[in-house]
Amino acid sequence: MATYFISDLHLDETRPLVTRAFFNWLDGISKQADALYILGDFFEVWLGDDDNSPLNQEIIRHLKDFSDTGRPLFIMHGNRDFLIGERFNAMTGATLLPDPSIITLYGESVLLMHGDSLCTRDTAYMAFRQQQARNREWQQQILALSLPERRRIAQEMREQSKSMNSLKAEDIMDVTPEEVIRVMAQHNVQRLIHGHTHRPARHDLNIDGRVGERIVLGDWGQSGWCLSVSDEGYLLKDWQLTA
Ligand code: MN
Repeated sequence: MATYFISDLHLDETRPLVTRAFFNWLDGISKQADALYILGDFFEVWLGDDDNSPLNQEIIRHLKDFSDTGRPLFIMHGNRDFLIGERFNAMTGATLLPDPSIITLYGESVLLMHGDSLCTRDTAYMAFRQQQARNREWQQQILALSLPERRRIAQEMREQSKSMNSLKAEDIMDVTPEEVIRVMAQHNVQRLIHGHTHRPARHDLNIDGRVGERIVLGDWGQSGWCLSVSDEGYLLKDWQLTA
C-alpha cells in the first residue's frame, strides 16, 4: 500500500495520449492506493464545473470509479484549473485541498503546495494570482459568464501570457530558494511536495540548521510521473508514455 502524488498532467483534448496514460495508471494503482493526491494543473484549463465536454465527463467518471472504491482522493488547484469547484468534487468524490496544506504521511508532517506561489520572482504572475486567479470575487465574475465567453477569455489570457511566464510551460520560472525555506520554516515541516515548475527532482535542504527535502513532481507529456510514499520511504518515478 502506498500514497500517490501527481500533478501537471495538463489534461486536454489535444493530448489524448496523456489522458489514456492517466486512465491506465489510475486503474493500476486503484487496488493498492492508500490515497491519491493531485497537486494542481490536472487540467490544462478548467472553465467551470458546468463544462460537461465529453472529455471532462470521461475524466470525472474515472475519478469517481477510483473514489467509489473507498480510497481518499484529494485535489489542489493549480494556476490553470483554479476554477474547480464544489460540483466537481461532488461528481468525483474528491476533496479540495487548500494551498498550502499540511498532512500527516506515515507519521511525518508534510507540506503540500501546487508550487506557483513559490515562484516569487515572476512578479507579473504573482499580481495576477493575487488579484484575479485566487480572488473569489474575480472568480465569481468569470463564472457568471457563459461558457463560450469564458473560453474566449481563457484563450485571450493564454495569448497575453507572454508577460506572465508562469502561464507558459516553456518559461515557467523556478522557485525562489529563500521562499521555500521561509514557507517550510513557517509551517515547521522538513518535507515539501509540489509540482508546477516541470522540474522533477528531489532537493536536499537546510532549514535553519535542520535537514529537509523538497520533492518536485513531474509534468506528464513524453513521460508520466508520480511520487509514491509508503512506510518504506519516498519514490519519485517516471515512465515512458507510448501510443
Ligand atoms: Mn502550474
